[in-house]
Amino acid sequence: MNRAEPQRVRAGRFPRYGVAAVLLAVLLLFGQPLHGADDDTLEGILEASPKCVDTIEHCFAIELFIVVKDGEPVQTAEWVTGQVETANAHFEPIGVAFELASVQALDAGLATITERSERDMLGRGAFRTGVVQVYVVEHLANVDEEGEIYGVHWRDREKRSRRWLILSSLSWNTTLAHELGHFFGQKHSDYPISIMNKTARSEPPVAQRTFADEELTSMRKVLAKMLKKKQLVDRR
Ligand SMILES: [Zn+2]
Repeated sequence: MNRAEPQRVRAGRFPRYGVAAVLLAVLLLFGQPLHGADDDTLEGILEASPKCVDTIEHCFAIELFIVVKDGEPVQTAEWVTGQVETANAHFEPIGVAFELASVQALDAGLATITERSERDMLGRGAFRTGVVQVYVVEHLANVDEEGEIYGVHWRDREKRSRRWLILSSLSWNTTLAHELGHFFGQKHSDYPISIMNKTARSEPPVAQRTFADEELTSMRKVLAKMLKKKQLVDRR
């Protein structure tokens, strides 16, 4: 009897600990969106974004500019993180990674970029060399024909050494990697494996596509040139 008694006492207390544990779990679950990966403020996007891994040879800064409309950025922290993670996976073979250095708001008036002149004006004022500047807008029109596009590597027509990337909020997670491919000197290609190949195809499946070996070789050379000219400056 004496032995059994403490067990009963424990058994009797257990539900109370159980209730406390459930309450704690509920608090943690509901507390998470305020401070976790679902914090879609500008600070939240910056905090959630992946950092360059220590083992990578070159780490380059991305300065992100994103349209804020009705008080909210036009895309989420999760979307931005997906873009950067995907880019880093595709650039890893050449020892390159990217991380966000800053996130800044763009006026809601810039939500839809239609004309070439708007693409010029979007990045002209804030342009600086040494980093990759990425502008995220809600809609990005095709300037050559009817319709929208997901992204573009744009050179200011007034001074072509000034260049930046523009991503549409509608773009999928390889768009940043593709546009960075242009930043690293690559044109659209015919390699079936390549994310620079825009031709619709079923093979290889999207998940298996990356840069072709020939493109990686070319990008290594372009990287060396950009480092020499300080168009890209290593963060470390
Ligand atoms: Zn392209």
